Amino acid sequence: MSFSLTILGVNAATPAFGRFPTSQVLQAHNHYFLLDCGEGTQMRMSDFSIPRHKIQQIFISHLHGDHVFGLPGLLFSYDLNGRQTPLHIYAPHGLEAMVAAQLRPGGSLSYPLHFHVVDTQSSNLVFENETVTVQAIPLKHGIPTVGYVFREKPRPLNIRSEKIAEHQLSIPQIKAAKSGEDVLLENGILLRNAELTLPPAPLCSYAFLTDTMADDSVLPYIEGVSLLYHDTTFCDDFAENAALTMHSTARQAAELARKAGVGQLICGHYSSRYRELGVFLEEAKPIFENTVLGEEGMRYSV
Ligand SMILES: [Zn+2]
Ligand SMILES: [Zn+2]
Repeated sequence: MSFSLTILGVNAATPAFGRFPTSQVLQAHNHYFLLDCGEGTQMRMSDFSIPRHKIQQIFISHLHGDHVFGLPGLLFSYDLNGRQTPLHIYAPHGLEAMVAAQLRPGGSLSYPLHFHVVDTQSSNLVFENETVTVQAIPLKHGIPTVGYVFREKPRPLNIRSEKIAEHQLSIPQIKAAKSGEDVLLENGILLRNAELTLPPAPLCSYAFLTDTMADDSVLPYIEGVSLLYHDTTFCDDFAENAALTMHSTARQAAELARKAGVGQLICGHYSSRYRELGVFLEEAKPIFENTVLGEEGMRYSV
């Protein structure tokens, strides 16, 4: 397991039935990424033992309040706790002004805060580190909105430990084998890479597509992802509302998941019209069997 997703808030628009507005934490190797920051995100982090000080990047889908109103409180708490580690926020244009207006009365922060404006018209690589890339993709919603696709970078091959002992391989020879090269021994024997290594585990990927109409134009970007979280604000009974508010139904999300050939679909961003969530699964599963409900506090392994 290389990715682990914890959902902190899964409701649409307003808190209801104990459910909070949108927020998630994706753990990718040793990095923690916050996705959206609805009201109550800090409290949910405490409830679910998220190490909030380890978060260095926050990715915001769009500026509707149910996705950003938790930010001022979180940023303020980091300051109160004397945070010094820089924090980077990726979001469509306008977030910096929104947040700065609320933080300014307190003066400067204890840590560097960097805003990165994400292009909402075309797909772009917005972040990468040694193990992960993050791509923003345009979504169809009432205001400029993006989804984020996290992909694990290719890993080195696994060396077969018995071959190290058998051929007394040196560290440079092991490194060469792990990067795919053949190894020439001092006695002139050439060891083919295929006999020295085993393929790495399949790469993980996660797509976070909240607040959007189901739209086939995202297919090239999410094809084959291991895990897809997709807007399912409504079911068929409110399909008209879904179209009017530029959201999706569970059926539409499942059809998209099937077309994209994803590993698993997580439903979420539920309208407060729904107290019980079973209807989302009843609608989605006949179309895409490997569908699960997004539930707060649940950890989804990728
Ligand atoms: Zn929303
Ligand atoms: Zn929205």
